[in-house]
Amino acid sequence: MAKIVIIGAGFVGSTIAYALMIGGTAQEIVLIDKIAEKARGEAMDLSHGASFIQPINIYTGDYKDCQEADMIIITAGAPQRPGETRLDLVETNTAIMREIIYSIMEYNTSAILLIVTNPVDIMSFAAWKNSDLPHSMVIGSGTVLDTSRFRHLLSVRCGIDPRNVHAYVIGEHGDSEFPLWSTANIGGILLENFCENCTRTCSSDNREEISQKVREAAYEIIEGKGATYYAIALAVRRITESILRNEHSVLTVSTYIDEIYGISDIYLSVPCILGKNGVESIIPFELDETERTLFFQTGEIIKKSLPAALKEKTGNLPVF
Ligand code: NAD
Repeated sequence: MAKIVIIGAGFVGSTIAYALMIGGTAQEIVLIDKIAEKARGEAMDLSHGASFIQPINIYTGDYKDCQEADMIIITAGAPQRPGETRLDLVETNTAIMREIIYSIMEYNTSAILLIVTNPVDIMSFAAWKNSDLPHSMVIGSGTVLDTSRFRHLLSVRCGIDPRNVHAYVIGEHGDSEFPLWSTANIGGILLENFCENCTRTCSSDNREEISQKVREAAYEIIEGKGATYYAIALAVRRITESILRNEHSVLTVSTYIDEIYGISDIYLSVPCILGKNGVESIIPFELDETERTLFFQTGEIIKKSLPAALKEKTGNLPVF
């Protein structure tokens, strides 16, 4: 019986609740929002579907309801408006995150925290720093969504089921993220070798076009419909399942980086193994020279964007 609390019942929070509910991932879901009426409306609407799915209890609550939760998912915060970057939200959302983490810690210090609020790498770092939890228990949804966008675009271009396209986007969940072309593979065959035997016409320009489409997907969707929520909700469900079912799946969540390719003391997305304790380890991923440079650059961008309070060097790290 899994209990999940979702803080922030806006587009993303309520769609995550829907995805978890229809996936049978949790049997108890609590929605908390600073606008209580909004959370109440969403919980009512979702509960009215209960007779069509596995038994579930969805209700609204307050921070006391974090007690006994297995996972707490945070989506509360200001969303990106058309033309805004995720990093434009740093100051507002860091303050919101601090307040939320303090409230959670009063009632629950054993749940895994999954941060979705943007800019997600900085918000996850802020959540971890304001909690007393080991960093393995504070996770950002990171580039799990971007990785899925990448796999989808490759699958369309190559005419292959996206589930057989194995490729990652790493770094910032934002403008400096980048796909790992050097290790991308289709059904176990490196993309480069796959392309040699493929009759479709492609050029190296297609790679840049795909990378750019992945990076700019959120802007395009926000321009069109104001917010993105379906694919992120499924990405969050996938992360949640891997943790609650102790699956040890490899997913590019945002996690604490300590001396990886010259980067330390920030949160960034890299391929991680996820199980019941959260991030169990980072897989020893390999980067070619170009990717090393990009990894260093994305790390520097996040470092420079940290609010002053988060810039102090972290001491006495809790162990994994
Ligand atoms: P939204 O405005 O629809 O929802 C945000 C909700 O948070 C609102 O209902 C608001 O009342 C609530 N809220 C604000 N401050 C709060 C507080 N202190 N306590 C409790 N609730 C509070 O926005 P959205 O479209 O749902 O997006 C939510 C966040 O998710 C944004 O930061 C957005 O950028 C981010 N997002 C992240 C990803 C990702 O891949 N990580 C993808 C999409 C959106």
